[in-house]
Amino acid sequence: MPQTNKPETKSIKHFSVKELCQTLQISPLESGVLTQSEFPLKIPADFLAQIEIGNPLDPLLKQVLPVLAETDQVTGYTLDPVGDLNNNPTPSLIHKYHGRVLLIASPKCDIHCRYCFRRHFPYEQQINQRHWHKALELIALDESIHEVILSGGDPMSLSEKALVNLIEKIEHIPHIRTLRIHSRTPVVAPSKAPNKLLLEWAKKSRLNKVLVVHCNHANELSEQTAQLLQQYRTAGFQLLNQTVLLKDVNDNADVLIDLSHVLFNQGVLPYYLHQLDKVQGASHFEVPDLEALELHEEMRQKLPGYLLPRLVREIEGQPYKTPL
Ligand code: SF4
Repeated sequence: MPQTNKPETKSIKHFSVKELCQTLQISPLESGVLTQSEFPLKIPADFLAQIEIGNPLDPLLKQVLPVLAETDQVTGYTLDPVGDLNNNPTPSLIHKYHGRVLLIASPKCDIHCRYCFRRHFPYEQQINQRHWHKALELIALDESIHEVILSGGDPMSLSEKALVNLIEKIEHIPHIRTLRIHSRTPVVAPSKAPNKLLLEWAKKSRLNKVLVVHCNHANELSEQTAQLLQQYRTAGFQLLNQTVLLKDVNDNADVLIDLSHVLFNQGVLPYYLHQLDKVQGASHFEVPDLEALELHEEMRQKLPGYLLPRLVREIEGQPYKTPL
């Protein structure tokens, strides 16, 4: 486990890149940092505490530190790599797959992941109460939809009250059977993840409840995440994890095997291992397909089937995530 770093909670989210480097005792020059970015540095205190001091190669640091490689212009890397804006019948609603829709519940996240496929998404045009109202009307009119996925941004970056209010509106639609929440907050900021109103709601709700967390490396998980995830399970959530395959972060079968085991110890089943979405600014995270297939095969040989995530890629226009 990394040497832990216990900084003041309040100042963390407003760290400049230089301040982060000072706190972690790494050289900005050697790390090739980018000091100004339209997608600024954002790192929650819990996540920072899991980063090893003095290690510029720390796999958690690599996920959040802006670097000069983000300014590379690489062919094939675009602003909207999965075509969200082509499947956007009304602001805040994305409808790509049969039977389920995605509702963008928040424009914010508790962390900024440098490889994020929505790092250029025009959230300001997509989210407000009026948009939700219209999106919920459309969902209520379409009886083929039985699952609503809350995504973002990160839905758990909403206030807990706002999140539960929105969920209750969804629950009132009779043909909705399942609520799925996609959130990185329980892993990266467990001390601020919702754990009161949401859990009370979940214990009473008629809906099937799925929480898909997003964890890329076992170092992100701690005793604190274990306790929080246990609370969600007890309240009736099925817990799944999705991981993005990232160069110099987790492009190693042993690292991913360890992640599967630690997730399972915390009650979470590995679900997807995603190939990187080719978003502008993230090309330095790409792992070639052949390498991805080789390390997935090694995982298959060493893990029980229920701990092997599916290796997939999202291709615009496909009716499901495409297996490699
Ligand atoms: S938490 Fe999810 S949506 Fe937010 S920046 Fe990270 S990957 Fe993107």
